[in-house]
Amino acid sequence: MGKTVILDNGHGGMINNEYQTAGKRSPNWTQGILYEGMFNRWVVNRIIEKLDRLKIPYYHICPEFNDVTLETRRNRANRIYEINPDVWLLSIHANAGGGTGIEAFTTIGQTSADGLANIVLSNLETDMQDTRMRFDLADGDKDKEMNFYILKETIPPAVLVELGFMDQRIDYDRLWDENYLGRLVDSLVRSVGEIAG
Ligand SMILES: [Zn+2]
Repeated sequence: MGKTVILDNGHGGMINNEYQTAGKRSPNWTQGILYEGMFNRWVVNRIIEKLDRLKIPYYHICPEFNDVTLETRRNRANRIYEINPDVWLLSIHANAGGGTGIEAFTTIGQTSADGLANIVLSNLETDMQDTRMRFDLADGDKDKEMNFYILKETIPPAVLVELGFMDQRIDYDRLWDENYLGRLVDSLVRSVGEIAG
């Protein structure tokens, strides 16, 4: 397949202990508040280190700690596509709304992103067997479909993955857990490597 990943950590990070995004956080349970944009950066930063060690190429469209606007993220992704059309976008998020488990989104309708999401979700299903996979199999693949801005407005095929629910206690504990996080990252790195060919 031979596509290079464009990494996107959703929302803002921490600057001098101040979260840069409104909302988008867990309740203040035993380990404290899990800020989604902070967590998303943990995942992307760990992916980047592993890709460096494996010499697998990547792009990163929002290395800043402030909450880079969706328009800027789109512009950066599309500019990369102009230089190198053999790319796909992986947007990392954590979920809210009280469910449990992992789900991934592509735009509505059949596009090349569906096959990429299937690779990501199949590897997560194999690697995270203790975790509920929130598949939508109605259209013959595993991803869910929503026209989120970062999916619809970017030219490269794009997959948005929600790695767990910040506001559900089991998922909250898992997202803080180094071992669980390591397994999530290893699975995503595996998919990025497979798609890179
Ligand atoms: Zn998010």
